[in-house]
Amino acid sequence: MAEVLVLVDHVDGEVKKVTTELLTAARRIGEPSAVWVGEASDSGTAKLAEYGAQKVYTAPAELNDYVVAPTAELLAKLAQDTGAAAVLVSATAQNKEVAGRTAVKLGSGVLTDVVDVSADLVTEHSIFGGATVTKAKVRSGAAVVAVRPNSVPAEPQPGEAAVEAVDVEVSEAARGARVVERVAQEQGERPELTEAAIVVSGGRGVGSDDFTVVEQLADALGAAVGASRAAVDAGWYPNQFQVGQTGKTVSPNLYIALGISGAIQHRAGMQTSKNIVAVNKDPEAPIFEIADFGVVGDLHTVAPQLTEEIGKR
Ligand code: FAD
Repeated sequence: MAEVLVLVDHVDGEVKKVTTELLTAARRIGEPSAVWVGEASDSGTAKLAEYGAQKVYTAPAELNDYVVAPTAELLAKLAQDTGAAAVLVSATAQNKEVAGRTAVKLGSGVLTDVVDVSADLVTEHSIFGGATVTKAKVRSGAAVVAVRPNSVPAEPQPGEAAVEAVDVEVSEAARGARVVERVAQEQGERPELTEAAIVVSGGRGVGSDDFTVVEQLADALGAAVGASRAAVDAGWYPNQFQVGQTGKTVSPNLYIALGISGAIQHRAGMQTSKNIVAVNKDPEAPIFEIADFGVVGDLHTVAPQLTEEIGKR
C-alpha cells in the first residue's frame, strides 16, 4: 500500500486537531506517514500514532526559519523518495502555498479547499467562494491536497509510529524569505477559530465595539468568536477573527451568525459549516438562504435569551 504524507500542524509540541482529521482521511487512501518539521515531541508522536500514523518523519527545525519554500522542498523530496500516493496538508493560507509549491516540484496537481476525499483520491472541494462543491482528481503524479479543518471527522486507529529523521538541506532558493519574529495571537480561553467545533460570529448588526453579546453566547457554548469584515473594518473586533474570503475559512459543526447579512465574501469563509443558524432582523437577509435555522429578530434580544437557556442546561 502506498504511503500518504500528512504535514503535521503543531504548536508547542502539541498536534492540532486538523492533523488527526488528515490522518483519518489518509488512512482511506493508503499508509499514513506524518511529516513533522522540527523535533517531534513524545506526546505529539503518541497522538499521531493514535490516529494511524505508521511513520513520523522529522525534519530539521531550521526549515521553520524560512517561509513556506523549504517545507515544500521537504514534502516533494519525501514524496519522490517514498513514491507517496498523495500529500495532505491543512487548508490554511500558508499550507495552501506549501501545497502549490509542492505540486509544482512534483509536476503533479494541487487541490485546495477540499472538504472530502475518497479512497481513490476523488476530492470534493469548495469553489467560487464556497458557492459550489465540485469533484476533482489529480491525474498525474502524487496528488497534493489541502483539506479544510473540520471537514473530515477524526477517528482514532491506535498503532505504533516509527520516528525517522530526514536529512534535508534548505536550498539557496528556499532561503529567500526568512521569519524574523513570531507573535502569538491572543486567544484567551476560547478555541482557535479555524479548529473550533462551534463558531459564533458578529456583524455590523452588533452595532458597536461592544461584542459582549457575541462573546457571552460563544462562551456558553464553548465556541470561538468570529466577525464579519464590516465589524472588523469598523474596528469593533480584531482582524484575526474575520471570517470570509479575505479572512479565515471555518467549517464548524455549528456556525451562528448574529447580525450578518450573508454577503458572498462572508459565505466564502463559512458556507461549508455543517449547521448554520442566523439571527437577523431583516427577513430578506441573504444569510437565511443558507441557514438551517433562522431567527428573525433583534440579536440583542435573541442572543441573550439563547445564552440564558444554554446556561440552564
Ligand atoms: P451588513 O451587510 O451591513 O449586514 C448587517 C446585517 O445585520 C443586516 O442584514 C441587518 O439586517 C442586520 N442587523 C442590523 N441590526 C441588527 C440587529 N439589532 N439584530 C439582528 N440583525 C441586525 N466580508 C466578510 O465578512 N469577510 C470577508 O472576508 C470579506 N472579504 C471581502 C473581500 C472583498 C474583495 C470585498 C469587496 C468585500 C469583502 N467583504 C467581506 C465584505 C462583504 O461584501 C460585506 O460587506 C460584509 O460581509 C458585510 O458585513 P455584515 O454582514 O456584518 O454587514
